[in-house]
Amino acid sequence: MNKITVIGAGTMGNGIAHVFAMKGHDVNLVDISQDALDRAIATIDKNLGRMVAKEKISEADKTATLNNITTHTDLSNAVESVDLIVEAATENVGLKLKIFKQMDELAPEKTILATNTSSISITQIAAVTSRPEKVIGMHFMNPVPIMKLVEVIRGYATSDETTQVVMEMSKNLGKVPVEVNDYPGFVANRILMPMINEAIITLFEGVAGVEEIDTVMKLGMAHPMGPLHLADFIGLDVCLSILRVLHDGFGNPKYAPCPLLVNMVAAGKLGVKSGEGFYKYTRGSKELVVSDSFKK
Ligand code: NAD
Repeated sequence: MNKITVIGAGTMGNGIAHVFAMKGHDVNLVDISQDALDRAIATIDKNLGRMVAKEKISEADKTATLNNITTHTDLSNAVESVDLIVEAATENVGLKLKIFKQMDELAPEKTILATNTSSISITQIAAVTSRPEKVIGMHFMNPVPIMKLVEVIRGYATSDETTQVVMEMSKNLGKVPVEVNDYPGFVANRILMPMINEAIITLFEGVAGVEEIDTVMKLGMAHPMGPLHLADFIGLDVCLSILRVLHDGFGNPKYAPCPLLVNMVAAGKLGVKSGEGFYKYTRGSKELVVSDSFKK
């Protein structure tokens, strides 16, 4: 089995470590924060426990999966003979470039360097390494253990061989990989974010309220969640930063973020993570907040 290192033990990193470890890979999970590592292991333990309760895996599978994961706070202790590193650290260009330079210096020559970035250019990241042909996007969806898709993003210099290895590895995880090219937003966010932005503009212009917009999209388009509710889940700050990447990258005004989104982020209303976005999230419940002030 291949040896894997996952960098960043947050929302995505713990899920990525979970799915690789469940398929028998040796996984190094790296984070600068010991707290984040402890929380990640607790989350993986809890999620595996749910699978045991549903009789999807046995107690022995759960133990074996947890035993496959080793945590580290220092990347230099987590790269020996690894085949693939998946970087899932905070979405920040400067940080990703720094981590990729470090990975390139420390990891064996054979190691493929992948990033789970939602929006940063794979080509730009690859350019700071000495192995751009071995750098690729491996964009898992949240929650990783449940969502089937992996968007596999080829940078300008990514080789066919690297792409093939990552497509195969993704299939072996039970995922469905889809190969795409490296342009702003790739495919998923290029289509999703303008839809979310349009839902916010529809609210901003007073065409309909929050619940009405979400209901139209849920019942009319069979979406499992309305776009405003989904935006709260993704994080309004994350939606804004991806829209800015699309706007800057294409130079097309159709991607300009709605002023209401910009204001909400400035006011610290970030959705589920801050307790309030288009809805309020308290004690696990969802209550409407923004709708009334924008209904005409
Ligand atoms: P998160 O904030 O939950 O976790 C990021 C983790 O990275 C934190 O634990 C932080 O301590 C760690 N970190 C920061 N600097 C580090 C460093 N130098 N070395 C090691 N660890 C470091 O973020 P997330 O939501 O898991 O997102 C991670 C990546 O996945 C981002 O690139 C994001 O765009 C992408 N992504 C997120 C989602 C999502 O729904 N959250 C979906 C797809 C892709």
